[in-house]
Amino acid sequence: MSRPTDEQLAIARTAQQFAAEYLAPHAVEWDEQQFFPVDVLRKAAQLGMGGLYVREDAGGSGLSRMDGLLVFEGLSEGCPSVAAYLSIHNMVAWVVDTYGDHAQRDRYLPNLCSLQYLSSYCLTEPGAGSDAAAIRTSARRDGDSYVVSGTKQFISGAGTSDVYLVMARTGAPGPGGISALLVERDSPGLSFGPEERKMGWRAQPTRQVVLDEVRVPVSCRLGPEGAGFRIALSGLNGGRLNIGACSLGGASEALRRTVTYLGDRTAFGHPLIESQALQFQLADMATELEAARSLLWRAAQALDDDEADALRLCAMAKRVATDAGFEVANRALQLHGGYGYLAEYGIEKIVRDLRVHQILEGTNEIMRLIVARTLRGGTR
Ligand SMILES: Cc1cc2nc3c(=O)[nH]c(=O)nc-3n(C[C@H](O)[C@H](O)[C@H](O)COP(=O)(O)OP(=O)(O)OC[C@H]3O[C@@H](n4cnc5c(N)ncnc54)[C@H](O)[C@@H]3O)c2cc1C
Repeated sequence: MSRPTDEQLAIARTAQQFAAEYLAPHAVEWDEQQFFPVDVLRKAAQLGMGGLYVREDAGGSGLSRMDGLLVFEGLSEGCPSVAAYLSIHNMVAWVVDTYGDHAQRDRYLPNLCSLQYLSSYCLTEPGAGSDAAAIRTSARRDGDSYVVSGTKQFISGAGTSDVYLVMARTGAPGPGGISALLVERDSPGLSFGPEERKMGWRAQPTRQVVLDEVRVPVSCRLGPEGAGFRIALSGLNGGRLNIGACSLGGASEALRRTVTYLGDRTAFGHPLIESQALQFQLADMATELEAARSLLWRAAQALDDDEADALRLCAMAKRVATDAGFEVANRALQLHGGYGYLAEYGIEKIVRDLRVHQILEGTNEIMRLIVARTLRGGTR
């Protein structure tokens, strides 16, 4: 896939227009007030963005990974924090569509696609982040239910979400003892920690999810017992690409504003954009983003086609796109001089939002580990 089709360009334009109309005008204020704009998310769902990869029979849009990248890049031009929450929600909806049985798909997908139900992905724990197979949340079988106890850390959307995809231990230590359970918000024993105070991503809540003897029907388990870790990781492949696209959208917007700013700003008797040193920086910023975009698109194609090296390509693309996005946004701040540091210009917010993309959905060190493992194994 070297370039988008006309239909894909139309999808990208729709997302960009939505971002310009509903996200960009409020992004700085939402960040300051830590406001999570659920109504705006539901508006996005009316355009099919609540279930981008969900099959159409369950109310989804049935789009490809490549289509999704264009949506998330476009939305992030308006607000990377809101777009990134939507990416996590779409990851959960994809998991339910892919691994859910008929009844589970019927029960959850129409509401997930319309965003009547918001969802959260709960893998990380206080003692298990990168080493996710070490999770300790336990799910003990008792008749037709599991009794689930444990704490999930850093959960995006927690407290507001209606449905929680919880990875819990139903068996022996290690990845093979983990199952994936859908837990509803009103389940007795489910509670949430206080909202975390964060550097960025402030237009969406991050809280602990605390499970204290929560009774979850066995019918809410996705896939067979013990398949939860594999399910969790397969969701993350697409999630990583989308986070990379969110980085590109935020950084592209920062670059666009920088070009305008340098054209308007005069120093030493001429507009700053006439300085060749600054033009070279702008050229490098645009080039880094374009290179990252190409790799993201290549990885999306590998995921859509179920290629053998999709995991490796997704890890490479996530690392490259999130590093490039942060570096470009940070350079855009520098090129705005002191004004880049002021909240009202919106650039420092983009930098703060993009920083966490290098940490979550697998840190960029873990992305390197995944790539290195394939090199050492001699496989591509
Ligand atoms: C704002 C925010 C939102 C999040 N949302 C979610 C969510 O919705 N759901 C969810 O499940 N999780 C979520 N996370 C958690 C996130 O995925 C983890 O923070 C991340 O996976 C890293 O885990 P950790 O914080 O425990 O760091 P650790 O695993 O403790 O790592 C600490 C450092 O050591 C490095 N490191 C660890 N192991 C190795 C190694 N073997 N080799 C080299 N370096 C290594 C890491 O790269 C990192 O730099 C979120 C995090 C944040 C900050």
